[in-house]
Amino acid sequence: MHLFDRRTGLNVLLDDVDVPKARWSRAPRQVSIALTNACDLACPFCYAPKSAAMLDTDRLCAWLDELDAEGCLGVGFGGGEPTLYRRLTQVCRHAADRTRLAVTMTTHAHRFTLELIDALAGTVNFIRVSVDGVGATYESLRGRPFADLIQHLTWIAQAFPFGINCVVNARTVPELDAVADLAASTGATELLLLPEQPAHGRPGASPDTVAALHRWITTYRGPVTLTLAEGDSGSLPTAQPLPGETGLRTYAHIDATGTLRRTSYHSAGEPVDDRGILAALNRLQQKDAP
Ligand code: SF4
Repeated sequence: MHLFDRRTGLNVLLDDVDVPKARWSRAPRQVSIALTNACDLACPFCYAPKSAAMLDTDRLCAWLDELDAEGCLGVGFGGGEPTLYRRLTQVCRHAADRTRLAVTMTTHAHRFTLELIDALAGTVNFIRVSVDGVGATYESLRGRPFADLIQHLTWIAQAFPFGINCVVNARTVPELDAVADLAASTGATELLLLPEQPAHGRPGASPDTVAALHRWITTYRGPVTLTLAEGDSGSLPTAQPLPGETGLRTYAHIDATGTLRRTSYHSAGEPVDDRGILAALNRLQQKDAP
């Protein structure tokens, strides 16, 4: 039995409670949703599709209701850049008022104004800000002044619990100490390390870069919790809080065209039609069955 508090992010697993399989939640624990493919930056390692696509707000709210009813614990809005989704505040308000879902959001942060922060306060439980390297490295990758990022991070830190997402490649791996220091000094509670994935002709993080990342993690002693995606941890000793939960029980992704996939990196998917998300999930499971 898994208890979860969206306000604090507290998870409690009661593993001596034997819940019959028929009562297990049918939805994935966490679903990421790309609200739009649009983005106003042009990061070289971006793997978001460059085709124009944006989710319909009524469909999206119906999906949130369905995920909540089927036991999903949280949704993560991303893109593209989610702040370019025109009805972002309406959707987050719907999730907060009509569902028990935790809402997280991954953003480059540059479009966060004090007005937007006011509008989202109380409806978004955690924000993930993309920061790859510091100073000139950040500026050359993201094409925006590092000082602007710091300003937006400061505003976000005053209103939301937040973490930092860092794409790790040959350029950014030497700056992990500086990124971790930035996370600590701005009040981030989590540093998510994302080895660059192959996309749009770029090969992704090399084995040497991944090895350097793993060495850095083993010597890290900072105060901010480090996290890695399930497939990126190699032989590192990681905490597996829910070992019985794997694959689509753990996580699924819906892209900005409304296609359900295992992750944003998987190309195979099932369109979410009028039958809903769980029906698409079942079709995807059957398609992948050996
Ligand atoms: S901010 Fe994110 S979505 Fe936008 S170009 Fe950069 S990596 Fe892609």
